[in-house]
Amino acid sequence: MKLVKHLANLGYGSRKEVAALLRNGRITDAAGNELDADSEVAHHDIRLNGAPLDPDSQAVIMLHKPLGFTCSTRDPGRIIYDLLPMRWRLRKPAISPVGRLDRDTTGLLLLTADGAFLHRIISPKSNVPKVYEVTLARPMKGDEAALFASGTMMLESEEKPLLPAELVVIDPIHARLTLHEGRYHQVRRMFAATGNHVEALHRSVVGGIDLGDLAEGKWRELDAVEKARVI
Ligand code: URA
Repeated sequence: MKLVKHLANLGYGSRKEVAALLRNGRITDAAGNELDADSEVAHHDIRLNGAPLDPDSQAVIMLHKPLGFTCSTRDPGRIIYDLLPMRWRLRKPAISPVGRLDRDTTGLLLLTADGAFLHRIISPKSNVPKVYEVTLARPMKGDEAALFASGTMMLESEEKPLLPAELVVIDPIHARLTLHEGRYHQVRRMFAATGNHVEALHRSVVGGIDLGDLAEGKWRELDAVEKARVI
């Protein structure tokens, strides 16, 4: 791919704007040699004003989603894209969440423009475990773990039973739930079906990746080893 198209796809501006950056010598290789618009992307370690470019389209980003942000591009309230560089909204292909979190859920959200990776994780066949830390309004009754593990639990207006899920009870109102699928508001609906109410929900793990010490509202790119560990 030509450099001018690559930079425009990353959201650095229209092709015309990016061509101007190139004409002005702002785009270089790592050794500081100016690059021209016809350069092929594959051959250069590219810098803009001396700094490395944004992650490419194969990148997977992990975001520590705070409370009150929706996983949507169109919402009058706060959206996860407010936490990422503004130009990322212009990226082609677009960066999308790998499975959504509700506005009132915090924690680990992966994002990528890598369509094949996205599909592998969110496909119904994927089975990638997702771990949720749950705080409940009322003490659990004691039969929740068996019900969730049964593989026969039905949620209202669904046609298929839920896959078995593992519940670890920490204390009467705190639990860790591992799901192997991702249905709409699944954790909240599972506990609602037991007569309880989820007060707070936090996702700590997706596949082999956890949030580590990433602060709330911050993001970072996964390295290749981490990306492979997700699935
Ligand atoms: N289940 C929910 O109910 N909400 C989420 O955000 C994720 C899983």
